Amino acid sequence: EIRLDALTKSYGDNLVLPGLDATLGAGEFTVILGPSGCGKSTLLNLLAGLERVTSGRILMNGREVQDLAPRDRGVAMVFQNYALYPHMTVAENIGYALKIAGVPRAERDRRIAEAARSVALGDYLIRRPGELSGGQRQRVAIARAIVREPSVMLFDEPLSNLDAQLRHGTRMELAALHRRIGASSIFVTHDQVEAMTLADRILILNKGRIEQFDTPEAIYRRPASTFVAGFIGAPP
Ligand code: ATP
Ligand code: MG
Repeated sequence: EIRLDALTKSYGDNLVLPGLDATLGAGEFTVILGPSGCGKSTLLNLLAGLERVTSGRILMNGREVQDLAPRDRGVAMVFQNYALYPHMTVAENIGYALKIAGVPRAERDRRIAEAARSVALGDYLIRRPGELSGGQRQRVAIARAIVREPSVMLFDEPLSNLDAQLRHGTRMELAALHRRIGASSIFVTHDQVEAMTLADRILILNKGRIEQFDTPEAIYRRPASTFVAGFIGAPP
């Protein structure tokens, strides 16, 4: 379970998140939708520990994490520009964080192979990123996140660089992966179809405030505001 308690973030005098309160269930798949600049990436960065909160608390399974270093939070993040290390093989890219964490070689190799298999890259372990397609590279980035067996997985528009067919395939893989790992997943997208198909609940953010946080069906049928109705494209 992830709890946001009066969470705020400002950059200088730009108050990006004026105060978020929300509880995301354990194992839940939450999709965040909202216009450009509304604070989606900022929220993920706070959860991952890549940015410091201005005030408020983040609780993960009852533990306050807002002052912990990123590696102590049990969180993994997949970025839109999934920068891989070009000089390393797929296996080395996936296993890098484990190596840094001092996981022994044999266990590392086992977990790398398993993570690669789960994104259908089992046969690509000794390739380098330059020898992969865009979709394969994105799957390496996903494997790199799941290999750490995180309890929280954060995705910042991870499919937006892929063509329609790859998007669909990777989206299905992600959904299956989420169910298998049992992690809480938070997924930022601009794509409503993606939101509707992946989400247990959709959190709609507008200027750093939560407009609505509910199931796709409830949001579609009973939009809480004209903003939500306009954004989700539901009939008036
Ligand atoms: P998009 O859909 O375009 O990715 P977003 O919802 O992810 O948008 P954020 O990246 O969270 O938006 O940005 C929210 C606001 O915070 C914007 O006004 C942005 O300019 C500002 N901002 C984000 N990061 C920083 C930073 N490091 N320093 C200063 N301002 C920032
Ligand atoms: Mg963003």
